[in-house]
Amino acid sequence: MLMSNQAVAKYRYYRWALAIGVGLLTLIITLALRFYEETKNIKNMQHQIALHTVDKLDKLLAPVDRIPFAYDNYYGMDCDQIQPQLRQQVARLQTLRSITVVKDGIITCSSLNGDIGKDFNQTLPELQSGNNRLALRTATTIKKGAPLLMLWKPLGSDNSNGRLYIFNIELLSDFLLEPKLPFAEQVKLNVMNSSLEYANHQVLTSPETLSPQVVHHSSLYPYSISIFGPTASSLALSQLSEHLALSMLLSLLAATAIYLVAGSRMSLAHPISHAIAQREFEVFCQPIIQSQSGRCIGVETLMRWKSRRHGWVPPDIFIPLAEQHGLIIPLTRYLMKNVAENLLLFPQTPEFYVGINVAAQHFTDQRILEDVRSIWLPAKPIVSLMLELTERTTLGNIDSEQIHQLKQLGILLAIDDFGTGHNSLSYLKTLNPDVLKIDQAFTAAIGTDAVNATVTDTIITLAHRLKLKLVAEGVETAEQANYLREREVNALQGYYFARPMSMQFFPAWLESYERENRFKAGKPWIEADPR
Ligand code: C2E
Ligand code: CA
Ligand code: CA
Repeated sequence: MLMSNQAVAKYRYYRWALAIGVGLLTLIITLALRFYEETKNIKNMQHQIALHTVDKLDKLLAPVDRIPFAYDNYYGMDCDQIQPQLRQQVARLQTLRSITVVKDGIITCSSLNGDIGKDFNQTLPELQSGNNRLALRTATTIKKGAPLLMLWKPLGSDNSNGRLYIFNIELLSDFLLEPKLPFAEQVKLNVMNSSLEYANHQVLTSPETLSPQVVHHSSLYPYSISIFGPTASSLALSQLSEHLALSMLLSLLAATAIYLVAGSRMSLAHPISHAIAQREFEVFCQPIIQSQSGRCIGVETLMRWKSRRHGWVPPDIFIPLAEQHGLIIPLTRYLMKNVAENLLLFPQTPEFYVGINVAAQHFTDQRILEDVRSIWLPAKPIVSLMLELTERTTLGNIDSEQIHQLKQLGILLAIDDFGTGHNSLSYLKTLNPDVLKIDQAFTAAIGTDAVNATVTDTIITLAHRLKLKLVAEGVETAEQANYLREREVNALQGYYFARPMSMQFFPAWLESYERENRFKAGKPWIEADPR
């Protein structure tokens, strides 16, 4: 019993451990997947914000390309005459602050300031180098200190003639560079080494200390947009708590499902079928002694399971489970085959019988008859076979034809644990047995429990009346053995004579038992209990 408790506790532990393990794994996997998804989404969002900003600024700058412009128009004109035209063009574009005309390297006319006459190279050197056409500057004249975005459109390749478009980037920046929380805490416009940020209407020239999450360059103009903010992974991590409840629910569901599934799989049913395949079951046998002569007249075979994982598992645990999960028939077949392969271990006489315990289910649909025919008989046994059917389980519809055929084949039938079930008498009628096995509880009652001892006497009388043979189980003392022998119980089985032993040990046991010569004709062979 201790063993069974340990085994059950072990299975319970495995079941819980598996359920908790699967639950935790589900939680980790769902959160990890969520984290991966979120990180990808956040990165994508930051990229999109940069892309849209570039797109909007490109669209703001593009209309100047459509303003008609040719020096010929200004030929021979001074700034006073050109300025109204320039102003008209500026008025048409709201975002434009002014247009300045550069001729032969001199700033000749501005829509805002008129004739400036300054050297273009010296005033805006950054627009002279390479292919730079954009500059971010601070206004020095009107609206001093305000940021200005200048777009230089040279005529020809020498950079000394062209027009300079100056944009009101101060106001534009407020809608262009607006942060998009939580993905973009700051959006910056970068033109060469200068930059501009939201709400700070000053051109920044100090080098950037923070590294942006995304930088996107315009393909049309030489500027870029950088996005600053939390890293995608840190943002995803902070958002993970929102998914925690759902993930926990999922993992709880997974754990429950596994717990339920494991309930049936771990209930030993799975290990039993595995153990049959792995030949982990061993057949034991317990001698049965004729009460008058003291000779061993048969054995009852008993199944033992030495599981590689769980150690010895007692039959009290695995037999009911095998019955519940429909594995008792394969298990009995396994035992019958094993016995059939080892018949030479027993005395080769039909008087000697081998008892096999058979579950009630095995009696339906003629299955036991088929197994006797296909497993037992082909082994050409000389010993007799006795099928023990326990009374503890309900007997279904027993086919009387099957019983008849078994008897025809010389198979003996015994009712096991007689007197413990509810239908002892109907069993007697249906099975028409050769033997009744008195349950060990009644044997144990001898000399101690008056009521049960009376039942024992009644069973003995009944068996005698019906001319049935009687075997008493669980004989542990000489007193019990003498009592049963005096009442003409035919055979005895119990620890007093021998404990169940591996079938392979039986010949050696039998030899030593017979050598002891405990039985002598005409004399009581059961010795007085030494206690
Ligand atoms: P059972 O058919 O009543 O088997 C007799 C049980 O009593 C055996 O327990 C045996 O070891 C035990 N026993 C024998 N002598 C004594 C004794 O003097 N004192 C006490 N206290 N016990 C004694 P075991 O081997 O643990 O088997 C328990 C039950 O498991 C068996 O009861 C039987 O119902 C079932 N069983 C065992 N092997 C098989 C099998 O191969 N097939 C089926 N269907 N059932 C089996
Ligand atoms: Ca039995
Ligand atoms: Ca029994």
